[in-house]
Amino acid sequence: MKLRNTNWNYPTTIWFGAGRINDLPLSCQKMGIKKPLLVTDKGLVKLDIIEDAKRILKEAGIDFTVYSDVQGNPTEANVLNGVAHYAKNGHDGVIAFGGGSAMDAAKTIALMSGQSRSLWDFEDVGENWTHADINGIAPIIAIPTTAGTGSEVGRASVILDEKLQTKKIIFHPKMLPGIVIIDPELTVGLPAHITAWTGVDAMVHAIEAYIAPGYHPMAEGIAIEAIRMIAKYLPRAFNNGSDLEARGQMLVAASMGATAFQKGLGSVHSIAHQLGAIYNKEHGLLNAILLPYALKQNKPAIEEKMGYLSKVLELQKHGTDAIIEYILQLRKELNIPHTLKEIGINDDEAKRIGKTAFLDPSTPSNAMPLNADDLEKLFRAAVKGDLNSL
Ligand SMILES: [Zn+2]
Repeated sequence: MKLRNTNWNYPTTIWFGAGRINDLPLSCQKMGIKKPLLVTDKGLVKLDIIEDAKRILKEAGIDFTVYSDVQGNPTEANVLNGVAHYAKNGHDGVIAFGGGSAMDAAKTIALMSGQSRSLWDFEDVGENWTHADINGIAPIIAIPTTAGTGSEVGRASVILDEKLQTKKIIFHPKMLPGIVIIDPELTVGLPAHITAWTGVDAMVHAIEAYIAPGYHPMAEGIAIEAIRMIAKYLPRAFNNGSDLEARGQMLVAASMGATAFQKGLGSVHSIAHQLGAIYNKEHGLLNAILLPYALKQNKPAIEEKMGYLSKVLELQKHGTDAIIEYILQLRKELNIPHTLKEIGINDDEAKRIGKTAFLDPSTPSNAMPLNADDLEKLFRAAVKGDLNSL
């Protein structure tokens, strides 16, 4: 496939192509934003890609400021400080620039920029979102710099509640960015291990959405194609970071994974959310380690779907075991460890993790019903590396 500039409007307006970052001023104009707040994270703020974005805005005569006090797992304080910065400088829109952390923080700052209620009032429970003042939500432009989270096409964010040591999902339909700029040149400098972790996260989104129960052929179709694209292009992007075609395809596949997971996620995310909150480890890395164990545990419920997926991936054998074998091989190729123990997580907190994972919003959409004991068992297996215990 030759990369060329393309625009489409599903599930939101997407401007795709190498060098499309140059259209950032145009996107502000289209969204009616005159003074954007550019939100990014602490690591990114020092990089050339941010300097370029700032230069492009300056040259277009757009007045803006930058907010980058965002941790890897963004917290309530990161959001509230951002809201204060937004108000103090008189902004009228948000540019979410970065990976999942920056984008989730940015989207939440946009939500909270004009609300009188507190942040946790908008946790994704029941009809909470209907209590938001819709006119108090700032317009959002999103520019992903990793191919994983897909937060650029999502209507929710994950924010850490430090008091309860738990991650909460904040949701509002207007948190969906109005314009997304997908520019593969922005991910060229991404280190190989981040490429691997975020890329497998995107794959997990697509796999968990595909095997989630429920009737949603649209989401399943998108999920299957995303998995196929990631299987093809992730090793290429990992081995050669400058491969623009692979970078572009991975960015689009990550957006597709997030589009698909409106259908639901599953036990990989249920547990990864808890471990991210307790041990402050990277979300993608946790998911990448957990994936084969979750597939093994779900095997009774997913055999038929895994049979189809293995044909799509042109594997020699078909079924869940074949997919697990494929994932183990892919992980090896991407230098991803096989056990949680290797990244310093032991099973001291297994009971608690089983219980809180059960309450995670991803659990009800797991491929088959799981209780807290099942999730504890899954976690223990991933700590030890014992696929056969499941
Ligand atoms: Zn994820």
